[in-house]
Amino acid sequence: MQTTEEELASVAPIKVVGDKESKLTTLPVTKIDCPRCGHDEAVWWFLQTRSGDEPPTQFYRCLKCNHTWRSYS
Ligand SMILES: [Zn+2]
Repeated sequence: MQTTEEELASVAPIKVVGDKESKLTTLPVTKIDCPRCGHDEAVWWFLQTRSGDEPPTQFYRCLKCNHTWRSYS
């Protein structure tokens, strides 16, 4: 009965990692032309760069050739 906190500490990080991994594998798909191979579907996500002052950068990854590029908008 004294191991409750230890059990929580060891279980919680595993759950967080699992949630992160499941998010990575379910990135949204959008219609956009790949600049390398011309395929028209890619997954996308936002990445916060530097401080919170700047807007997050949008990245795309081609579903066909895995080429990754950033959005210049
Ligand atoms: Zn491509």
